[in-house]
Amino acid sequence: MQFEDLGLIPPILRALKDQNYKSPTTIQEKSIPLILNGEDILGNAQTGTGKTAAFAVPIIQHLVGEGHNPNGKRTISSLIITPTRELAIQIGESFTAYAKYTHVKNTVIFGGVSQGSQTNALKRGVDVLVATPGRLLDLMDQGFVSLSDVEYFVLDEADRMLDMGFIHDIKKIIAELPRKRQSLFFSATMPKNILDLSHEILRNPRKVAVNPVASTAEKIKQYVYPTNKSDKKELLFFILRKLGSEQVLVFSRSKHGADRIVRNLRKKRIECAAIHGDKSQNQRQKALQQFKSEHIRVLVATDIAARGIDIDKLGYVINYDVPNEPETYVHRIGRCGRAGEEGIAFSLCEPEENAYVRDIEKLIKKKIEIATDNPFPQTEKPMSAQEKKEFEKEKNRKRQEFFTNRNKKRGSQNPNFRRKKR
Ligand code: AMP
Repeated sequence: MQFEDLGLIPPILRALKDQNYKSPTTIQEKSIPLILNGEDILGNAQTGTGKTAAFAVPIIQHLVGEGHNPNGKRTISSLIITPTRELAIQIGESFTAYAKYTHVKNTVIFGGVSQGSQTNALKRGVDVLVATPGRLLDLMDQGFVSLSDVEYFVLDEADRMLDMGFIHDIKKIIAELPRKRQSLFFSATMPKNILDLSHEILRNPRKVAVNPVASTAEKIKQYVYPTNKSDKKELLFFILRKLGSEQVLVFSRSKHGADRIVRNLRKKRIECAAIHGDKSQNQRQKALQQFKSEHIRVLVATDIAARGIDIDKLGYVINYDVPNEPETYVHRIGRCGRAGEEGIAFSLCEPEENAYVRDIEKLIKKKIEIATDNPFPQTEKPMSAQEKKEFEKEKNRKRQEFFTNRNKKRGSQNPNFRRKKR
């Protein structure tokens, strides 16, 4: 099927050609005709399937068809809610690209930065508003945003919204929307709480499902390197050397872990940056921009920070640790091999993570190949329950000892030193 077959207007076809999109992805093929026909959509699809264009393109076409006065004051006709700032920015960029040859204007609002430029854009008037929930409610309260003219509403990544605790914000936003509207609801997973929320938003929705989480893994080559905790650092260098100068997204379970990986890579003069929840919005944007423009080779990310980031043709993902939720693994490796591109994912697995690999294999219904070029194979055994208990006890004892000694030392250096009350 071609984009021409979907009934799209010439200015949009031209913009898609500029993007080098040859043919629609499955979600686009299925959703665009339904949305153009005015149907509500319950979309089971995750980032990487081309879902942004699946909703953005028909919305733009609707707005062009309505002939909004290009010179008059624009009102917000379409609202897109998305959980993360990065995703909001990317959706905004997609709208800008697909609406390039039309008069449709969008703006993006998100928290963590000052609101001045966002409110200025709103004052100038926009047709499409892409927003994260908190900042949207804030600007609504301050009177900068009215939702009374919204005709097309999109709730993106609904499952992640709920995970991030946005349910009350979403309900407040929905309450402000006109009853007569077209609503599009997307989620990578569809547990009961998500379906319940969808019933509150959608009217007689058409269901569109693509790539349920487990099958996205099919187009990505995956290798596991069973190794020891203490060898992971060297193993990462080994894999990076093997990949020459290719750009790589490295996942870490924790923020501290991500920072540690960055420090180690910098010691080896590998250009890199981390994005995680402790970084400011500007730092995260800068790191992402540097990675996209290929000024740095490695981006190290935690799961939440990486959610939704979209880097064209990313070839490689390395899991520095194996996530304990199999779905997280699928989301992580889904960052590479996007929209038909081939990707390769490597996972560094220490003994304690062997069981996680088995859970992942159950979910994706196939064995992950064991890398044959592993210079640091696993020699240690996973700890028994008793060993684990003793290990944790010893770790806590050492921690306690460290703090006691540190406090003693500080106390002796500074007579006014008081231990902070917890
Ligand atoms: P999304 O799932 O919307 O985050 O899109 C994932 C990636 O696929 C983005 O980089 C899009 O630019 C790209 N993309 C979307 N639609 C197509 C298409 N029809 N052909 C090729 N790439 C596409």
